[in-house]
Amino acid sequence: MVQRYLWQQADGKRHAYDTEHHHPAAARALPVLCGATVTPKADDMVGVWLDPTCWQCDREIRIRLDFPANEIPDAPGQTDTQ
Ligand SMILES: [Zn+2]
Repeated sequence: MVQRYLWQQADGKRHAYDTEHHHPAAARALPVLCGATVTPKADDMVGVWLDPTCWQCDREIRIRLDFPANEIPDAPGQTDTQ
């Protein structure tokens, strides 16, 4: 079974994308779950990923996959206004 959301390093972070709508490729713009559009480099497609996780993508995955509320962290770096 293909996972609906997968991670891709690009532009200095590991972001997550929706596999139903996007397929990452080097030098091609990739919309990711946190709302950014990133562009993976060739090295990002094959290399060891050392860049930090994008926690907004991590949070978005948990929301979309219906994680229990206590496993969904507050949005990082933002005041929670919800
Ligand atoms: Zn992200």
